[in-house]
Amino acid sequence: MTGLVSNIQKYTIHDGPGIRTEIFFTGCSLSCLWCSNPETIARHRRLGVYPAKCVERGKCGWCVRDCPEGGAPIVFGADDRLAAIRETPECLACHRCAEACPSRAIKTWGEEYTVGALMKIILQDRGYYERTGGGVTLSGGEPLLQAEFCAGLLSECRRERIHTCAETAFNVPWDDALKVFEFTDLIITDVKHTDAQKHREYCGAGNALIFENIRKASKLGIPLVIRTPVIPGYNADEANLRASAEFIASLGSSVAAWQLLPYRKMGTEKYASLGIEYPLGDYEPPERAVWEAELLRLQAVLSSEYGVPVVAGSADALTL
Ligand code: SF4
Ligand code: SF4
Repeated sequence: MTGLVSNIQKYTIHDGPGIRTEIFFTGCSLSCLWCSNPETIARHRRLGVYPAKCVERGKCGWCVRDCPEGGAPIVFGADDRLAAIRETPECLACHRCAEACPSRAIKTWGEEYTVGALMKIILQDRGYYERTGGGVTLSGGEPLLQAEFCAGLLSECRRERIHTCAETAFNVPWDDALKVFEFTDLIITDVKHTDAQKHREYCGAGNALIFENIRKASKLGIPLVIRTPVIPGYNADEANLRASAEFIASLGSSVAAWQLLPYRKMGTEKYASLGIEYPLGDYEPPERAVWEAELLRLQAVLSSEYGVPVVAGSADALTL
């Protein structure tokens, strides 16, 4: 069995306690307007195109040489550099162009790994995990869409006594979540909007299944970190945040922290490389001084009125 992984990041410190290895799985069942990992949304491999890295077709041309379609889907600009790869029916999605490119102007997002191959990478940093209380975090995309694989991976981590964390948007069947949670020490999830219609509009699906799954997860005895990306004009109004606080308060003591996160425009280059329009590309987030003050105000109001463990921002590493 293999898992489709978009990216592996070592030495991360914000998604779980201590120093961690974070594995980003390919495929998601939501499509949030503010997603900073667009390469993880599709459930299959994608080609990323980086024209500035191309050394010119006349000097190289290896992508065209190895393409079984004679390079027909590969578009070059007037400067003879790579401009795009058209996802037309004639592109076989074989990714031979990416394998051939010596300068990584064409990149494959999404690679198959076995549990054994990932464990080799994870175990390289066992010393860091032991010294800092860190471990492994599964992220994405939506890791629980590959539940069997993730359960196998986390059971191996457990066997090696490595702390495990699963980050999920929870828009998945509960039975799949349970398979993975059998081997999970910490769950990270989001409450993005309490209004079902707005949730559908902003994230591509309603919130009923998500909220139901969060309620069920809160009864498992596994610490839960809940996050809300606070985005003025979308979900930052006080009515929504108060409704979120009410919901989170109803979950009881399993909620270790509710992090209010500022929106930061990230992933712009990745959207461009995939040829996807960034839905919030023209959106200008507030200045740091403005959002910092607002998040601190919300932290004070929501924690005192609802008794929930609100944290403003993600600057502090999680200590659980
Ligand atoms: S993915 Fe395959 S068919 Fe498509 S452009 Fe690349 S080499 Fe050609
Ligand atoms: S293989 Fe890469 S560097 Fe060479 S022409 Fe194609 S895109 Fe450019």
